[in-house]
Amino acid sequence: MHPLAQLDHAYLWHPFTQMRGWLNREPIVIVSGKGAILRDVRGREYLDGNSSIWTNLHGHNHPKVNAAIQQQLRKIAHSSALGLANEPASLLGAELVRVANPESVFPATRKGGKGSKNSIPSAPLPPFPLSKVFFSDDGSTAMEVALKLAYEFARRTGRSQKPGFLSLAGAYHGDTLGAVSLGHIELFQGACAGLLFKSDKVMSPYCYRCPFNRAKPERADARVDRQCNWECVGKVEQKFAAQKKRGNPYAAMVIEPLIQGAAGMIPQPAGWLRRVAEIARGHGAQLIADEVMTGFGRAGAPSTVNHPSSVAGLRRVDLPSTALFACHHEGVQPDFLALAKGLTGGYLPMAATLTTQAVFDVFLGEYDAFKTFFHGHSYTGNQLGAAAALASLELLQKAASVSARQRLEQTLREEMQTLWSLPNVGDIRQVGLIVGVELARDWRRREPFELRERAGARVCEAMAQRGVLTRPIGSVIVLMPPYCTTPVQARQIVAALRDGIDEVFGKRRL
Ligand code: PMP
Repeated sequence: MHPLAQLDHAYLWHPFTQMRGWLNREPIVIVSGKGAILRDVRGREYLDGNSSIWTNLHGHNHPKVNAAIQQQLRKIAHSSALGLANEPASLLGAELVRVANPESVFPATRKGGKGSKNSIPSAPLPPFPLSKVFFSDDGSTAMEVALKLAYEFARRTGRSQKPGFLSLAGAYHGDTLGAVSLGHIELFQGACAGLLFKSDKVMSPYCYRCPFNRAKPERADARVDRQCNWECVGKVEQKFAAQKKRGNPYAAMVIEPLIQGAAGMIPQPAGWLRRVAEIARGHGAQLIADEVMTGFGRAGAPSTVNHPSSVAGLRRVDLPSTALFACHHEGVQPDFLALAKGLTGGYLPMAATLTTQAVFDVFLGEYDAFKTFFHGHSYTGNQLGAAAALASLELLQKAASVSARQRLEQTLREEMQTLWSLPNVGDIRQVGLIVGVELARDWRRREPFELRERAGARVCEAMAQRGVLTRPIGSVIVLMPPYCTTPVQARQIVAALRDGIDEVFGKRRL
């Protein structure tokens, strides 16, 4: 075993990892990366099939992001945001607010007025655009900040003295206790149940396994052929109505817009987000959008059809191809936008929670009124992270990046079609540059594999043998390569998945 692998085995404890299994085999030790490729200590190369857990945007060792960090490093690496401002954090705050309020989506809100007739007719236009940025360290803390702010906002505005939250079945919003409390994955919650507060859950629009979907399984994304009456949206309305009846309306609804990630890559049929946002707003609740995974272009170019289905009466929002956030694809502006992972292009741990002036204002007061938001971290507003984020945002808005994303999205879309002939592929779900492939024992009956069978893990191990790294979510294989991944590399990734499935389940074709 390589000495570095030995040290790892001797001293490290890995996240979300059964260490007994880990200690049974030599780990891949990464020493360098370039573009979409990771290189290990033995000189083997791998394609980064999940962008290093959904973080990396432009590729590893990107000259522009490297240069931005090096330039900042010559000035200072870090000074505290407690009591001090700094250059890159201020610039980044302004840039985040700019890209989070795209004029093409919210023309009227930018001027602070009401939506005009020719803007987006049924969009739930907020009275205020997102205008304030609170920095933290990672996705969990970004969500923790949103949660605490929404909680206090509801109390201080008199909406509720015991604010409650509604989130989606299967939701995952991070591992700190507040974020875990907003999630609904029994395996994660159960372990620390006594430490959590209760949040309500409502069914997510999981068309492939929806009890209301009367359509037979087809060789197509389940959203396309679904036969239902939008019962999932009805359930949201019912939840809000029931909670109002109890005299304690929800303070906020928490959503991963367009697609839930760790829940198993569960995409929403077109129009779901807009409808649900309208319900939440109609009940006076705030919206918390967790775009930790979907943000920064990951949900694709809005000018292409993210959702294969179309919805009568819903005009697709005409967004410029530089639109960076998933909620804007359906003209929804949240009260809280939680960002992390790709914020720094996948270089450094930094996160941001954007919110409205209205939220900001309820924390204003004289010193001795103690209305301060008592929350912060040592590295809040870190200069190196902010410098990387500024460089990443600049790259994201360049025409070259926009077209690379469109090309990669299209290549993935075409290549994924080839997997429908595999009988153990149950569903293929793609939203922009995010792909989930749900494996099934029998696609005709949508019969799932049990978690203990490690179907997804075994396929990913077979993919690693073929030079492609990714991690499954149960029986769902995730493909989410960096934006610099070339069409040739994208085809290699899908080929490795196809061969990996063949190796694990036997080569069969429909
Ligand atoms: N929200 C979402 C949607 C996520 O996917 C994740 C992480 N996978 C988190 C929050 C938590 O982020 P982090 O791991 O950076 O704390």
